[in-house]
Amino acid sequence: MQNLVVLGSTGSIGTSTLDVVARHSGKFNIVALTANCQADLLFQQCVQFKPRYAVMLDENAATQLRQCVREAGLAIEVLSGAAALEQVSVLPEVDTVMAAIVGAAGLRPTLAAARAGKKILLANKETLVMAGNVFMDAVRASGSALLPIDSEHNAIFQALPRNYNGDLAGNGVRRILLTASGGPFRNTPLDDLQNVTPEQACAHPNWVMGRKISVDSASMMNKGLEVIEAHWLFNAGADDIQVVVHPQSVIHSLVEYVDGSVLAQLGNPDMRTPIAYGLAYPERIDAGVAPLDLFKVAKMDFVAPDLERFPCLALAYRALRAAGTAPAILNAANEVAVAAFLDKRISFLSIPRVIEAVLDALPVNAVGNLDDVLGADGEARRAAQQQIRQS
Ligand code: NAD
Ligand code: MG
Repeated sequence: MQNLVVLGSTGSIGTSTLDVVARHSGKFNIVALTANCQADLLFQQCVQFKPRYAVMLDENAATQLRQCVREAGLAIEVLSGAAALEQVSVLPEVDTVMAAIVGAAGLRPTLAAARAGKKILLANKETLVMAGNVFMDAVRASGSALLPIDSEHNAIFQALPRNYNGDLAGNGVRRILLTASGGPFRNTPLDDLQNVTPEQACAHPNWVMGRKISVDSASMMNKGLEVIEAHWLFNAGADDIQVVVHPQSVIHSLVEYVDGSVLAQLGNPDMRTPIAYGLAYPERIDAGVAPLDLFKVAKMDFVAPDLERFPCLALAYRALRAAGTAPAILNAANEVAVAAFLDKRISFLSIPRVIEAVLDALPVNAVGNLDDVLGADGEARRAAQQQIRQS
């Protein structure tokens, strides 16, 4: 029996995780579920999975959930606030933490889980983008098992040698080929991008996801964040990672070896596959995902990314090369710009402009500890807000 905490259980990754867990009730026990403010959905999940703890970030939502739990006669302790997210992630009875909160809010509880030596199923890529060295040091120091859930990184993990030691060349790897769908605006005339709406940006052709990552996919910032994520997970330099646009999203990424072999992981675009892989590793379990029908796929296309259309991708490579606090600055400016776009305060094309202005304005410092990261994050958020007010 694996004892599990699902951080962000009401989100896209969270609900997919619980879907897989429900298929294997004898294998997993839910210790804690957490969410921001969706009390109704968290309550339904509590009824189904009977965790010991339920955490709502929002105090009012926690009060509402506590009431429902009491009326239903469930023995669940309802906690609230950001500290409670860390508290449940480090409980002694917890084996595994699914890190599926969106954005910078996921950093502290995920880092706490790493420091406590938990097995981490990492969906929250922002943790690695912001604080890659701090997080990876914590993973190494505690001996945590770290399993990437992001579909591309999960594919790369599967295509690398078992027990890969962070030495690409030593393992005969020439490059990592990171696939990207290109999102909903891959073929939109450039002149039309100025007026695209949040609804259009969130209508991804292949994946159903939360709104923030959907906008990131439309701008290809998501791929940029994933390049930085791959850097930390696999100890790969910016020049070792090639982004390949593959609109069908059937190949989830590839590893090219020096002998000319290229190993890929394929499957239908359904996050339950990497989630099930992470949950059961090193075994395999049914994920509820339909078999891949290659005859239906019939054809796969590959094109180079268009950096003029997708300046966010170039900005992410720039931040990775600049190192230090640059990726944290990039991430924070992006979160603020995406939120402003979703609120219809700025246009889609302003997202990269805001991020670039913030990267230009702020100094890049070395990262020694979490405070360095949080300092840069706060400064970049303020600079991005100011940029948006001026625009
Ligand atoms: P989502 O918006 O659907 O869900 C986010 C979850 O986090 C919700 O449960 C929400 O209640 C919780 N949350 C939001 N803000 C919070 C806060 N401030 N404090 C505590 N909890 C908070 O997001 P998602 O699409 O499931 O993505 C989650 C993470 O997984 C992101 O980092 C994303 O980049 C990554 N990811 C998602 C997918 C996908 O297919 N959805 C694929 C790869 C990686
Ligand atoms: Mg991905």
